[in-house]
Amino acid sequence: MNAKKTFKLAVIPGDGIGSEVIDAGMKVLKQVEVNSQGEIKFESVYFPWGCDYYLENGKMMADDGLDQLKSFDAIYFGAVGYSNVPDHVSLWGLRLNICQNFDQWANIRPVRFYKGIPGKLANRSIEDHDWVLIRENSEGEYAGLGGRNLSGRGLGKEVAIQSALFTEEGCERIIRYAFDLARTRKRKRVTSVTKSNAQQYGMVLWDEVFARVSKDYPDVETNQWLVDAMAAQFILHPEELEVVVASNLIADILSDLGSALTGSLGLAPSANINPERRFPSMFESVHGSAPDIAGQGIANPIGAIGSAAMMLEHLGLKEESNDVMRAIEEATSKGFLTRDVGGTNSTIEVAEAIVENLSKNKVEN
Ligand code: ATP
Repeated sequence: MNAKKTFKLAVIPGDGIGSEVIDAGMKVLKQVEVNSQGEIKFESVYFPWGCDYYLENGKMMADDGLDQLKSFDAIYFGAVGYSNVPDHVSLWGLRLNICQNFDQWANIRPVRFYKGIPGKLANRSIEDHDWVLIRENSEGEYAGLGGRNLSGRGLGKEVAIQSALFTEEGCERIIRYAFDLARTRKRKRVTSVTKSNAQQYGMVLWDEVFARVSKDYPDVETNQWLVDAMAAQFILHPEELEVVVASNLIADILSDLGSALTGSLGLAPSANINPERRFPSMFESVHGSAPDIAGQGIANPIGAIGSAAMMLEHLGLKEESNDVMRAIEEATSKGFLTRDVGGTNSTIEVAEAIVENLSKNKVEN
């Protein structure tokens, strides 16, 4: 039978635990296909890009890599970075190369607490709560503007300049994205985070755009915070958060804090979206390649599987996405947990539990 919906997926496992968590996610996608009884098919093509590829070829991805990726419906990405290649080379050569050239300007990072996984907030459970970080993903502190010079003056005298880029257009599109998302959620609240007292140009522009855009959304409650205070708020009053929008660097840091609070960095999914759909969007866990646990089969696969669920939603498969999230929740509630969240299960055992829940859910439906 020909599948009614066929999706072309570019799979880039990358480095370290990337391939382990992507394997887990692909098992889940296979079960989504099985559940669909021939309605859905994923045609996956694997790309070997990453640090090992760099050592062999002197580049993180093929020269025509972006051209190769263009025709896919989505990119499923593991992690990038290893000790054998400087971090800034691996990051710019692969992940940022794709995000920036495919104008994936919205990075969506949900912070979700799972039943059965003790979060890190002492004496407090906010299991039923989740919030979402919206990270500006195309400019800000990651604009890559600057340079190094004057090393000729001698040892210890080199200078480096790194500039952040804030454009009114870049600020406006991500802030609007956050407001539009807030309108779809239970508590319609957007919190903007900057450090505009110290960063008096770019981040003051951001604040002004936020204030202007908020006038178009009178039904959405707004707050503006400085990042140092917001770091404390994440710990002291996370229940106040709903949609949090921030610049590239600030949201990156806050999302690691958020996922650590839920129990582990291994739990957090993310989506790098090109909202106009001119290019494929890219789905990846928030965590990196975790060299300290790579190759041991103990990486938590939930961030990668949650990212696959976000990919399904992006591809128009909302019901299937919800099924995957339910299957994850069932696995954690029943105690299928990797070591980072207090369990003893391997990556594959957790993935298999999720796959089994998914197949059972289908039978029960
Ligand atoms: P990056 O800068 O690329 O985001 P990083 O070097 O900051 O990466 P990670 O590679 O994410 O950091 O790892 C940080 C810590 O979190 C490590 O101790 C790692 O073992 C742990 N960790 C990350 N991902 C997972 C996972 N999926 N399962 C279990 N532990 C994880």
